[in-house]
Amino acid sequence: MTNPDIVARWRAKTVRVPGSDCLWWTGAISGRGHGRFWYAPGRVVIAHRFAWALAYGVESLVGIELLGHRCDNPLCQRIGPDHVVASSYVENRREWAIRKQITGSPLDDPRGYDGGRGNCAIWRGVTRCSWRRSWTACVRSTASS
Ligand SMILES: [Zn+2]
Repeated sequence: MTNPDIVARWRAKTVRVPGSDCLWWTGAISGRGHGRFWYAPGRVVIAHRFAWALAYGVESLVGIELLGHRCDNPLCQRIGPDHVVASSYVENRREWAIRKQITGSPLDDPRGYDGGRGNCAIWRGVTRCSWRRSWTACVRSTASS
């Protein structure tokens, strides 16, 4: 986690795009549209969770129900109030319900979103590990999915 080589590899997979405030992930992408980062052989994490751990430490993830993207960009790696924020099931669904009404919102894209409970399903694996399990357990469950 604090290994500078691993951090450098993560950094090398992120890029700033003109016209966007987001920090875009350019590495592997999961079926749910989130970045995946193999930080060691056989060990994969959700990329923006890694970004969060870089910013605040691995321990800080334990009490966080889920990480939400205020910018509606699941690939965004930028930690901050307008981008990746600590959130919860309830909060995330409420915000999503509001924003999906906006024409042209990325949430109109049906990939990964099947309405209603779908938003929760996206986060289920992530949430479970940050909420009830340790970071290590999270990594294992993510790697096997
Ligand atoms: Zn963003």
